[in-house]
Amino acid sequence: MATRELKLRWEPVACDICQRSLLRGEYPVRFYDGQTVHMVCDLCTGRAHRQGWLREGTHLAESAPAAHAERARSLVARLRTRRASEVARESASAQAAVVDDLPHHVQAVPSAADAQIARALGMFNASEHARTIAGVLHSLGAPNVHARALGGDPLVEITVVWELRWYRFEVDFENGVVRQSGQGYEHDELGRELPPANVSADEAGRLALR
Ligand SMILES: [Zn+2]
Repeated sequence: MATRELKLRWEPVACDICQRSLLRGEYPVRFYDGQTVHMVCDLCTGRAHRQGWLREGTHLAESAPAAHAERARSLVARLRTRRASEVARESASAQAAVVDDLPHHVQAVPSAADAQIARALGMFNASEHARTIAGVLHSLGAPNVHARALGGDPLVEITVVWELRWYRFEVDFENGVVRQSGQGYEHDELGRELPPANVSADEAGRLALR
């Protein structure tokens, strides 16, 4: 009787790193830390790799502990290398996100801060970064979005913040470029204090001034 009750109850899985309950349709990735199996959400797999956990299915038989540890170590090294090349690719594609359809030579930089921000949001929406935001928004819900014109430079900084994740972008009018300038998990990593949230995001990751 007890087992039947257990089977009928639906237990949402929580991510062992961010503690978030996974949504329907999300599946945890199983990681092994050498002793225990952990459930990790899609957004935290990079973090799991960084702390040396192995994706389950990659760990090896327990029969020869010394050899096992040896191989596990080289596997961790390989995973780290792969992670590093992923990061390199991500930043390369961020650099390549040039908005080509802007005629650079004729666009005057709007003087009022709000006009600058509105124009920056338009460039952001036309960039691939809007899709990145849409993807995260799909599982974490609506973010707080802060945009501000950085005095002196023809530059707008956009910070998109969830409780467990953030992204920062720079919109460079002079070069017609939207680039990702940072990302992380902890609010402390954001460094300075954020301006009040002044931008909304729709489901497609498109940003608009509130
Ligand atoms: Zn997680």
